[in-house]
Amino acid sequence: MNSTTAGTTAIKQVDVLVVGSGAAAFTAAITARKQGLEVLMVEKDAVYGGTSCFSGGVMWIPGNRHSASLGPDSLKQARTYIAQEAGEYFDAERVDAFLANGPEMIDFLERETELECYPFSYPDYHPSYPGHATVRSIGTKDYEAWRLGKYRKLLRQGLTQTNFMGLAVGSNVEMKQLMSAGRSLKGLAFVLRKFGGVFRDVLRYGKPDPVTRGRALIARLSRSAFDCGIELWLNAPAKELVFVDGRVEGAEVQTQQGRVRVMARKGVVLASGGFPHDAARTAKVYPHKAAGREHRSLANPSNTGDGARLAESAGGWVDTAVQQPSAWMPISVIPYYQGPKSLWPHIVDRQKPGFIAVTSEGKRFFDEAAPYHDFVPAMVKACEHLPQTFCYLICDHRAIRRYGLGFVKPAPVPNGQHVRSGYILRGETLSDLAQQAGIDAAQFERTVARFNEHAHKGVDPEFGRGGNIYDHSQGDPDHKPNPNIAPLDVGPFYALKLVPGDIGNFAGIRTDGNARVVAQDGAPIPGLYAAGNDALSFVSGGYAGAGGTLGPGMTLGYIAGKHLAAAETTAQPVQSMKKGSHG
Ligand SMILES: Cc1cc2nc3c(=O)[nH]c(=O)nc-3n(C[C@H](O)[C@H](O)[C@H](O)COP(=O)(O)OP(=O)(O)OC[C@H]3O[C@@H](n4cnc5c(N)ncnc54)[C@H](O)[C@@H]3O)c2cc1C
Repeated sequence: MNSTTAGTTAIKQVDVLVVGSGAAAFTAAITARKQGLEVLMVEKDAVYGGTSCFSGGVMWIPGNRHSASLGPDSLKQARTYIAQEAGEYFDAERVDAFLANGPEMIDFLERETELECYPFSYPDYHPSYPGHATVRSIGTKDYEAWRLGKYRKLLRQGLTQTNFMGLAVGSNVEMKQLMSAGRSLKGLAFVLRKFGGVFRDVLRYGKPDPVTRGRALIARLSRSAFDCGIELWLNAPAKELVFVDGRVEGAEVQTQQGRVRVMARKGVVLASGGFPHDAARTAKVYPHKAAGREHRSLANPSNTGDGARLAESAGGWVDTAVQQPSAWMPISVIPYYQGPKSLWPHIVDRQKPGFIAVTSEGKRFFDEAAPYHDFVPAMVKACEHLPQTFCYLICDHRAIRRYGLGFVKPAPVPNGQHVRSGYILRGETLSDLAQQAGIDAAQFERTVARFNEHAHKGVDPEFGRGGNIYDHSQGDPDHKPNPNIAPLDVGPFYALKLVPGDIGNFAGIRTDGNARVVAQDGAPIPGLYAAGNDALSFVSGGYAGAGGTLGPGMTLGYIAGKHLAAAETTAQPVQSMKKGSHG
């Protein structure tokens, strides 16, 4: 561990201390390291990668170099779009910093690290906003587990419940190929190729170890970080900051060998993944939690708001003046598992033909094919006058067999066990299903009848389902006349309970355009930076498009790394350092 001891506390000196080991942390660490700084990363858990390993590994970066191959875009257009997303919370300094640095960050990482991205056409989440485009999201190419060598076992697992027989699908494009496996040769070839990878893993490691999506992002960044000499301590939470004359110059880190005071000559970057599992803060900041309603988070359980508390201890603050405090996700709870593995993110099923969502009153409330971030607030609002906040995702037999329903796989995989476990409800008739679910049956039948009446024509006059290119991109392109709409008329019928959830927070530590944590008066706190979900989102709580948390969060890490490299080095002798002299 290369530390010297002074009294009972060991001391380690570096240029930069990075708290956390997700995508934002690695980006900050690599950027600083590549400019010659000595960098230490500390991670609270026994494995590294945080929520980033659970993610799709997609980054929203307007103006990235891959976009041009897909179609026209400009940073000016992107700025116009972000202004709509952020509304009254639009912060020009930070948005301009994001737009200027995002493409540069991708160039830097693809040039200097193992990161390899690929473009794919994906509509931004709000096609009606001026400046909307379909070219700003980029994915991470799959990686091979063996390339990580001794670090392979330390890389956090992804959300394995979203794998199927060890097979992890890397993108929406791949998902479409997977779903077409029974119908097209191309789809079948894709599945066979993927299973080839699973088979190789089983031979090598005794089990599948897919390094795709967010795991591939972290695997690629970490491989390069370790190769260029960045040290990472696991089981090492940062506990408190160290101050010298009002400047942050390190942190106390709890290790298995005891407390270590890490002195950081240039500064400290907080990238501990935000506060999705800080029960007290989320109960204040998430309106439905404040009202005592159910909420689940798919984020890494150790993301308990340590970064926010550390920033506050230095005079920083958590800015909650945002469009939405969190990146919302409708979630169902899988009864067989515990922890993050028990939660299913409803990203791809709601939008398919043959699905609708209703409240316990049996009424629809929203365009079910809309982005997850918009679906949850609509559910919360629709349930305001009801005792609990949840809805049922409903589909008919044809839809469940073709597309699956949450954790339930499409045909030919049998679904009886999920009915027996109570994960889904099955009714021979709509009325039977309503009774099992405790839904107002008469109203439910009227709702489905009204939806079906228009569904035959492929329209949804009530909520506009399937009425824009975002919805269409999530539907079934082979289904006509509308990729998102089919009547629910082939029994039996199914219902799955969805509750409000999140995949990470948007409210966060207030920073300036240089990723420096600022005090209430806007003055930067010397030596302290924040990135990723620890920091206030660039888009101020709007969800711009696929990759709208990783792209901006990593860009903040990049900006922090660059600024640290240019920052003055403190030359405080170790003996003279004292804590608590800030303020
Ligand atoms: C299913 C799912 C899919 C998603 N897909 C996407 C996607 O494709 N694109 C996208 O943009 N976003 C996506 N997201 C959201 C995205 O994963 C997160 O917003 C992002 O990973 C947050 O990154 P981060 O670097 O801020 O934090 P994290 O990746 O969570 O890393 C933070 C790390 O800090 C550690 N830590 C906490 N406290 C301390 C401490 N005191 N000391 C040291 N370490 C500490 C944590 O243990 C954790 O390892 C998805 C999320 C989920 C759940």
